[in-house]
Amino acid sequence: MITKDNTPVAEDYGYGSIKRVLITEEEIAQAVKKTGQLISEEYAGKPLLIIGILKGCYVFLADFCRAIKIPCEIAFMAAESYGQSSVSSGDVKITLDLKCDISKYHVIIAEDIVDTGNTLSKICKILKERNPLSLKVYTLLNKPDRRTVDFTPDYSIFTIPDLFVVGYGLDYDQKYRNLPYIGFVEIEE
Ligand code: 5GP
Repeated sequence: MITKDNTPVAEDYGYGSIKRVLITEEEIAQAVKKTGQLISEEYAGKPLLIIGILKGCYVFLADFCRAIKIPCEIAFMAAESYGQSSVSSGDVKITLDLKCDISKYHVIIAEDIVDTGNTLSKICKILKERNPLSLKVYTLLNKPDRRTVDFTPDYSIFTIPDLFVVGYGLDYDQKYRNLPYIGFVEIEE
């Protein structure tokens, strides 16, 4: 494995196919902490609900919510996009929905990555119809070059190029989620 500054390190957790570290553990921690501070100021005194979109969000959400130093509640949704192989068809199905009424909350969606934008544009449309006090999307990673629908997250912690990335909750074939950094793997299809 090669780090950002081309220094070989051993911490590929046995996966062996990580080509490059794009964002280190330290960079993530620093940026997530800063984002948490901004939210703590902006939402102070307001009823705040953070919604994580499973599965990819779970590592990010765990750090993100602990960086927020004001009261907040946490809920989860899950969505699947159907289509051929790894290519999103744009047909997004909600597979796990909220159990709570969001109309009394300022809602933040905590997403791992915005790629084509299909998943979040659909989820935002559904949630807006439930009349939250406000709705914003905070994404750890944003790949604007891949967008196929008109969707812009309110806050992107990192903007990255068009690469398939893994780690920090993001998978390839359900693996790599436990890497503490964001890495780039070469996928043979
Ligand atoms: P969308 O294309 O709807 O914006 O993103 C759908 C989902 O595709 C994301 O929530 C994420 O699970 C997955 N995805 C998109 N790009 C990547 C990537 O680079 N790596 C990984 N592991 N998943 C991705």
